[in-house]
Amino acid sequence: MADSLDSSSIENEKKIASFRVKQQMPYDFKVKYARIRAWEFYNECEKRDLDCYVSVGGLDSITLLLFLRSIGIDIPAVSVSSLEDISIQKIHKELGVISLLPAQKADGTRWNKQKLIQEFGFPVLSKEIARKIELLQNPTQNNKTIRHAIVTGETGEYGGNKKNSRMKLAQKWLNKFGGLENAEEGVNYKVAPFKVSSKCCYYLKEKPCEDWAKAHNSVPFLGLMASEGGRRQKALMLNGCNYFGKGTIRSAPFAIFMRQDILQLAIDLNVPVPSIYGTIERDEGGRLYTTGEQRTGCSMCGFGIQLEKRPHRFDRLRERNPKEWEYWMLNCCLDENGHPFGWGAVLDYLNIGWRDMPNAEKKEKD
Ligand code: SF4
Repeated sequence: MADSLDSSSIENEKKIASFRVKQQMPYDFKVKYARIRAWEFYNECEKRDLDCYVSVGGLDSITLLLFLRSIGIDIPAVSVSSLEDISIQKIHKELGVISLLPAQKADGTRWNKQKLIQEFGFPVLSKEIARKIELLQNPTQNNKTIRHAIVTGETGEYGGNKKNSRMKLAQKWLNKFGGLENAEEGVNYKVAPFKVSSKCCYYLKEKPCEDWAKAHNSVPFLGLMASEGGRRQKALMLNGCNYFGKGTIRSAPFAIFMRQDILQLAIDLNVPVPSIYGTIERDEGGRLYTTGEQRTGCSMCGFGIQLEKRPHRFDRLRERNPKEWEYWMLNCCLDENGHPFGWGAVLDYLNIGWRDMPNAEKKEKD
């Protein structure tokens, strides 16, 4: 058993090392590599009687769509465009991207961010952390073992009796969100005055795309790059560009790309850059960058906010649209007594500044 574990971890290390070598290759190599992988995926899907589509969001996946078209792979592009910035929505329209609606609620209306926050909680910190906090905030007999693992790292009999498993939530988040476990676990954590949830992604993005893919017997091309980090980084390094797994089939032809490569390709393909990114320029050292936002996710999402320097995404929204900012910060949902509150309460609880614009704060200190 130990031997096979060792050999699989050696195997994984080899895969990661070989992936890293490819990441360091020159731009031209990577573009050729992406072309080969994309065609390989497309042909294999054809053999398996599957159609393909491109899942489109921001600049990276818009570039992927145009790259695939440029090499002769002309397939449908789909997106829940309404989640994106208006300038991105405009480009989606120009490129003929099929716009999907968020999933339907039981009452027949569509989910939106406000309804999801009200019903399930705020998407904050990261998807993985939010999932764990959500379990702690919604204790049931069924999730008892997993809650114990989240608080202690001990996985119990069914999880192989591990002691310090990665299931444990980081201590700083346990301190703030673990309070409902105080009696059970003999700890002394706080209870947050708001709910946290990762369901937003599921109802707004994943389910609509999954449903579309199922109805069209299709599997996706994704604009993911391992260099962007995040929870898919390791899977991309281990599984490579094309993955035909039991539950998941996908291609990520840009898996080995770095930021510079994708920006260079966007220039080479004359990709229409949504105005939220500004334009693609070179700095004094010759490195490409976008003059506006470097990356965009959904607007009004709290994933990763704890890692951002000010002016952070909520500050930038304030500059662009003070009315919208006010709604989301102060009024987007109601507490149990019917009083309005919003992201402001969440940021306060996490000690993330938002009330004063960063420049104003600086002046006060001066
Ligand atoms: S990225 Fe954030 S805002 Fe967008 S769907 Fe997911 S949780 Fe919701």
